[in-house]
Amino acid sequence: MSIRLLSDQLASQIAAGEVVERPFSVVKELLENALDAGAHKINVDIRDGGRRMIQAADDGHGIPAGEIETAFLRHATSKLQDADGLSNIHTLGFRGEALAAIASVSKLTIISRTEAQRSGVRLQMDGGKKTARDTVGAPIGTIISVENLFYNMPARLKFLKSTRTEKRLIDEFVTRYALAYPDVRFRLTHNGRVTFQTSGSGIEETLIAVYGAETARDLLPLTKEEGDERPIKVTGYSGQPSRHWSNRSRMTLFVNGRWVRDSNLTYAVTQAYHTLLPVGRFPIALIFIEMPTDTVDVNVHPAKTEVRFREPNAVFGAVQKTVRRTLIADSPIRDSGGWTVGANINVGARSDNPIGWAGRMEPQTGQSNLHLEWQRQDDALPTPDYSPAPAQPPIPALGGQKLPIMRVVGQIGAAYIITEGPDGMYLLDQHAAHERILYEKFMAERDRDGIASQRLMAGTAVTLSPPHATLLNENLDILNKIGFVVEPFGPNSFMVRAVPAIISKLDPTRGVTAVIEDLEQGDAPLQGKIEDKIILRVCKSAAVKAGQTLSHQEMEAMVQQLEACRSPHTCPHGRPTLIHLSVAQLAKQFGRI
Ligand code: ADP
Ligand code: MG
Repeated sequence: MSIRLLSDQLASQIAAGEVVERPFSVVKELLENALDAGAHKINVDIRDGGRRMIQAADDGHGIPAGEIETAFLRHATSKLQDADGLSNIHTLGFRGEALAAIASVSKLTIISRTEAQRSGVRLQMDGGKKTARDTVGAPIGTIISVENLFYNMPARLKFLKSTRTEKRLIDEFVTRYALAYPDVRFRLTHNGRVTFQTSGSGIEETLIAVYGAETARDLLPLTKEEGDERPIKVTGYSGQPSRHWSNRSRMTLFVNGRWVRDSNLTYAVTQAYHTLLPVGRFPIALIFIEMPTDTVDVNVHPAKTEVRFREPNAVFGAVQKTVRRTLIADSPIRDSGGWTVGANINVGARSDNPIGWAGRMEPQTGQSNLHLEWQRQDDALPTPDYSPAPAQPPIPALGGQKLPIMRVVGQIGAAYIITEGPDGMYLLDQHAAHERILYEKFMAERDRDGIASQRLMAGTAVTLSPPHATLLNENLDILNKIGFVVEPFGPNSFMVRAVPAIISKLDPTRGVTAVIEDLEQGDAPLQGKIEDKIILRVCKSAAVKAGQTLSHQEMEAMVQQLEACRSPHTCPHGRPTLIHLSVAQLAKQFGRI
């Protein structure tokens, strides 16, 4: 075949493939155009997941009658003048591709009217070719209907995902933008039924419309550091650590009003929850990043959902720090929410549980009252149930402290400490609480002037298997940095001469073995991370176990120390340290109210 130029139509179709991948992409482009046009009201109507029809109507500034055909040419845009503009993008669109692309793969009708015009222009197109143009009565703004998407691209049509998938993507997208533009009224319908709408009266109402009242109430507004005048501004909301989900989809990021996908920044958010959430669970967060337009490149991909930062680390740090600060400043006590306590403290099987018991509190809806059930380790549930805790108004902490003053009443099952506080009963998980206390002591010492060691009267010799010995040898300096003094002592043997003073009661052999086990599982993380991981592991080994009877004094000391922690509500792995049963809940369960 000889080399020939592709026809315009074919070239447009090929290019369209990148911009308009699926019905959802059409919704995205139309919505972005409406927002760029300064709309206050946007209606999106979908039929059959967008295959049959997608219509977006806005009350924005409209397209002048004389420019309407131009809008459908490839690379025609009113939003970008010159190369300089490209490094200072203030609009969602700028490539001038979307309308041309959409029109080339569908049957499209547009009606648009500007304020200066008395009537609107209607243009009809078929596969990118104009088929009709007339003048019609129309309100100011633009209505675009896209029908039979991909009718002329059978290959693409075949690969379309199910209507349900498309509907979900569209719902997600429209709700996201509603959050970023809370003063705009959005309405979304699928096959004539309204599935989502906002009133355009501000962020609080929009949060409720998007997340529901319960989740919205639990969101913490991100707080700015006093006097922070850095050019990267992070605002938005992050969820309380008591609510978490199995995937990352509830973390939403906007950069200068554009929804972006950025795994690095999503990681920054999860990092902020470090030790506050169970491993493998993710928070809800809505993050708006505002930064000078010339420090972010939005021209990475035709779909414009990826961006490149000039200083990615600065953006990462800004997000991580802002979220972390908000979480630390506000950590209300985890409330048991009555008989759904199972959702909070179902710890399932725990590998560090020496006597092989796992505590599990079951919701006993409609039945007598709190029911503590003990299971042997082997029949305990294998996976912890970390379903979100029911929303409850946070309990005000007394005197600015994060925990109320608690009076120790006793211990149950050699695992939990019962205490009385200002509003009912507070039940502490002794192991989780102790882990948190030790962890914070370690971190505080490390950040202050290094972790103190306690010399052992006579050193303890530890002999390991050759691979374990190699592993320990490689990590000796980290161990020594966190308060151990461990020296090689013959082949595969080591002498532990000192242990961190914070955990001087820890059996040195057990401590070292636990660390080795953890190192063995690790996939060579960064040095700093290994150290953190080892500290976590050491705290876990040294913490009081379930099954250990505690004296009254020991329990009191533990409660006091937990009260002094910065994040007393969870253990460093994110499990709750305490649950609360309010006086009202008790009264309700006993049928008193
Ligand atoms: P881009 O958004 O990248 O500029 P598009 O192909 O999406 O490119 O749109 C081309 C042009 O058509 C826009 O620059 C804008 O001037 C105009 N336009 C598109 N949609 C609308 C709308 N809903 N309201 C007003 N003008 C619009
Ligand atoms: Mg556009």
